[in-house]
Amino acid sequence: MLVVVAAIVGSLTLVGGGIAIADTPEPSIKTRTPRTESGVPNIDVVRQQIKNYYGDPLGTGTFGASSNYAKEATKVAAAGTKYLGQPYRGRGHKAILMDVDDTTLNTWNYEIAVNFAFTPASNAEFVLGQKFPAVPGMVNLAKAAERHGYAIFYLTGRGTAQEAATLGNLTADGTGVDAGYPKPTPLGNGEDGLFTKPAVADYPDYLKKACANDPKGTCTTIHYKSATRAHIESLGFDIVANFGDQWSDLKGGYANRTFKLPNPTYFLP
Ligand SMILES: [Mg+2]
Repeated sequence: MLVVVAAIVGSLTLVGGGIAIADTPEPSIKTRTPRTESGVPNIDVVRQQIKNYYGDPLGTGTFGASSNYAKEATKVAAAGTKYLGQPYRGRGHKAILMDVDDTTLNTWNYEIAVNFAFTPASNAEFVLGQKFPAVPGMVNLAKAAERHGYAIFYLTGRGTAQEAATLGNLTADGTGVDAGYPKPTPLGNGEDGLFTKPAVADYPDYLKKACANDPKGTCTTIHYKSATRAHIESLGFDIVANFGDQWSDLKGGYANRTFKLPNPTYFLP
């Protein structure tokens, strides 16, 4: 998913000797400005390198089971599984939390279908069609965690309208791909343990509060995810490990340890 997001950042501008508030659009990805062409990777070459990394040099949409990507993801999952097998010394109901896209479900088939150019409409076809296979190693990790007595939570930026399809793709509903993950653990207050992102008007109080100063009151990914983890912990759970493919899945605390899954195909700030 190449995601283009423009954040509106308020800044002070002098107008006619007075001070006025102006909205200055800025890119949400902060990075360097190359001085010459040689400092920029060629985008077509990078696409090919990514295909090679996924063990799919011809871009069929199926990643290789023994690709470098699969090996790297499996290695992270194995490290997580080992960590979760250690005796729990904390307080509360131990839990793990996992992101969905490219943490539990792999979106390579979609990336190839759209040549890495995300749009909400094209993505929704894959999400609602439940077309995504599991990320290598992660089903085994989640099943092992469940056997060890961890509560299982999923936290995704997918919207509320995609909740049922997401649950069906992750678990087993007989529609599309059934990745075989454990069902999420209900929280006891009516929440089902799979957290999708509500529309701003439907934010629960903990998101309204955490995101009040975000642009238009819409949660940044880091605020949405960290505030949701804080909410889960406020209900008596202790998030022992948090798994994500984006740094924005992992920043902001409320997890004892974080694990980063590989994903060179898009960046969500
Ligand atoms: Mg993700």
